[in-house]
Amino acid sequence: MGKRILKLITRFVGNKCVVFDGSRVYYWNIPMIILPLDALSFLQKELELRFGKKARDTIFYLGKLQGLNGSNILIQKFNFIPDVKDMSFFLEQTEFVGVGKLSTVLDDLKNSHMVFSVVSPNAKSYIANFGKINHPICDYVRGLYAGGIEAIANVAVKNDESLIAIETKCVAKGDDVCIIEIRKSSKWKKSEVNHDYPLDIPAIAEARKLETLAKLVRVYAKPFKDPDTLLNSFLKSKNLKRPFTFGEEGNIDLIGADSLITPIDIIVLLYHIFENKAKDIFYDTGIFLGKSSTARLVSKYSLDTGRADIQRMLFDQIGLFGLGKIELVRSNTEKYEYTFYLYNSPGDHYKDLLGTSKNIKADYLVAGILSGILEGIYQKKFETIEQNCVVSGSTYCIFSSKKIGK
Ligand SMILES: [Zn+2]
Repeated sequence: MGKRILKLITRFVGNKCVVFDGSRVYYWNIPMIILPLDALSFLQKELELRFGKKARDTIFYLGKLQGLNGSNILIQKFNFIPDVKDMSFFLEQTEFVGVGKLSTVLDDLKNSHMVFSVVSPNAKSYIANFGKINHPICDYVRGLYAGGIEAIANVAVKNDESLIAIETKCVAKGDDVCIIEIRKSSKWKKSEVNHDYPLDIPAIAEARKLETLAKLVRVYAKPFKDPDTLLNSFLKSKNLKRPFTFGEEGNIDLIGADSLITPIDIIVLLYHIFENKAKDIFYDTGIFLGKSSTARLVSKYSLDTGRADIQRMLFDQIGLFGLGKIELVRSNTEKYEYTFYLYNSPGDHYKDLLGTSKNIKADYLVAGILSGILEGIYQKKFETIEQNCVVSGSTYCIFSSKKIGK
C-alpha cells in the first residue's frame, strides 16, 4: 500500500469518518452512494447521446458542486487551512472517492492555475466497456478538481473567481493519461472553454442553491429498519470489514469493480435536472448495474441463484450501493412476480432536497436495478414498476417486478 493511501486512511478512516451500515455509506455523516464506474459510464454515455453538450456541462457542474462542498466541509469542520506548498490534502481527497491518483504537472495555486495528470478509473472503465471515444469523458472528475481547487484557492490565496477545468488529454480517447488544467474562468479563451459558467440551465442554478453546505451536512433521521442485511453479514463472514477497499491507483474496489463514492444528493440532482426526459435512461442504467453486479457476485462466491436465501441476499445489493434497505415482502416464483419495500431510498433524499410532489416517482434507478438483479438470477427479462414512492407521500417505496417475454 502506498504511503499516501496509508496517510489518508489514518486521517479519515482511522477517525471513523467512514461508516458502512449495510444500507448506506457515510463519510463525515453524509450519506454517500458507491456505484461501479461501468454503470456510471453507461449513464453518462446515454445522457450524452440524448442531451449532447448539456449532459457534459451538467455532469461537470455537479462534479464541481461536490468538489466545492467536499473541500469546504473539511475546511470548516476541521478548521483546516490548506497549505499552498503542500497540496497532498487535496490530492488524497480525490483518492478517497475513487477518481484516481493525481500527479501535479503544474502547481501555481497563487494564480489559481493548476495542471494534474491522472489515469482516471472513470476513463479506464469507459474505454473497457464502450470503446474509444473522440472526446474526453472525465467531466465529473474535472468538475471535482475545479471545485476542490476553487475552495482551497478561496481560503489559501483569497481567490474569489470561479475556476474552470478543461481536460486536454483523456485515456478514453486513447491518450496514455488524462490531463486536467484548472484556471480562473477569465483566463480561458471562449473557444477553449466552449461553455460559460454559471451555466445557462435553470435547473442547475436551482441545484446550486439547494445543495448548500448546510443542507449537505444536515442530520438524518434514523432508518426505519435495522440496516444490517444478509449480504452484509455474508461479506463480513468473508472477512470483509466493509465491502469496498482503497486501491493503489486511487481507485475504490467494490467486490471487483472500480467504483465511485459520491453524495446521494448528486444523483438526486442529476435525476431532477433531466427528470421526465431521462426516466428510461436511469431505469436502463439500473438494469445494467443490477445485471453486471449480480454476475460479479455470483461468479466470485459461486452462489447458487436457485436458493431463496441467496436471492434475498442478491436483492441486498441495493443497500450495498447505499440506495437503502430493501425488503422482499411477497414473491411468487412460479409466476416470477415479486414485491419489495424500500426504506431510506434515494426518493427520501429527493423529498428532503426538493419537497414532495404528487406526481413524482423518483426511483427509476432502483427499479432498474431490481429488474437487473432478477435478470441475473433467472437469465430472463423483468419489468419493475415503482408503485408508490415516498416523494408522492408514501411512507416507504413499493416496487413490483414481473417477468416479461419468455
Ligand atoms: Zn479522462
